[in-house]
Amino acid sequence: HAKKSGRSTFRAYRRGMDELIEKRRALEADIERGLERDEFELYLQPRVAARDGAIVGYEALLRWSHPERGMVQPGDFIPVAEVSGKIIDLGEWVLREACRLAADFPDHLHLSINVSPVQFRHPDFLKNVEDILSASGVLPRKLELEITESVLIDDDQRALVLLGHLKSLGLRIALDDFGTGYSSLSYLRRYPFDVIKIDRSFVSALGEEETANAIIRTIIDLGSGLGMRVVAEGVETVEQARYLTEAGCDELQGYLLGRPQPVDAAITAINASLVSELRSIAGRSFRQ
Ligand code: C2E
Ligand code: MG
Ligand code: MG
Ligand code: MG
Repeated sequence: HAKKSGRSTFRAYRRGMDELIEKRRALEADIERGLERDEFELYLQPRVAARDGAIVGYEALLRWSHPERGMVQPGDFIPVAEVSGKIIDLGEWVLREACRLAADFPDHLHLSINVSPVQFRHPDFLKNVEDILSASGVLPRKLELEITESVLIDDDQRALVLLGHLKSLGLRIALDDFGTGYSSLSYLRRYPFDVIKIDRSFVSALGEEETANAIIRTIIDLGSGLGMRVVAEGVETVEQARYLTEAGCDELQGYLLGRPQPVDAAITAINASLVSELRSIAGRSFRQ
């Protein structure tokens, strides 16, 4: 009897696995079709200076407007795209699209792009970045690449050389989700980051867990001491914004400051702020 039930459990497990594999295969094919049919788009979320709330740039966040599934969030397809290798094509699309957008940005705004560890490890990554940069004609300093600690773990030396090359192209490098990886401290000492982004989990624990406050203060002091800009992610409340600003955080990002929005809406907001800036300059000169 035990043997029989064991066998049927195994069969159920196999069926479950088969379904999972089938689902994943369907999703892979769907991603490819989605790219062909131009179903992907970038949403833009503002990053603001803690000091005065001025928008200093945007982060590009991938969205998939699927004909049947509706709007699909990156958490629901990026892991599959990474396992299947589709992230290479997808990541190239993101780079090209982001460069195209940033080329039209006013010079004082930058655009951050998330780079998957799989993409970062690909031997053609640097060449692709160079090609896409020069084809778009964008000023490289308007772009920032966000990477996570996981890219640094496996091949130290290659990562170090690659980051050096990317920086010599004029790109800025940010360490995303800081504090969630393994030996964050040693990475900061070795790698030339321009920006560190404090992971959302610390920000949301502010005021609730004493340790979060201490960790955040330490990250800010450390990053500032090393000459890096420190950005807090996932800022949702005025209390969090106030605490971070007082602790010396340079920039804030989160729903409180602005949700990720479609490109058109972001551009309208950028233009409106440029117009009001021009008006106030004009106003000042009229009064003189
Ligand atoms: P991430 O790079 O850490 O991006 C921040 C995530 O936090 C985004 O989720 C953003 O919408 C969300 N977020 C921002 N402010 C708040 C807030 O105040 N509260 C909360 N609860 N969430 C907030 P999203 O857009 O779903 O992206 C999730 C992750 O997917 C990203 O995390 C990034 O790792 C990845 N991702 C997004 N776009 C791309 C892309 O173009 N390429 C690659 N390789 N990965 C991407
Ligand atoms: Mg990011
Ligand atoms: Mg992050
Ligand atoms: Mg992340």
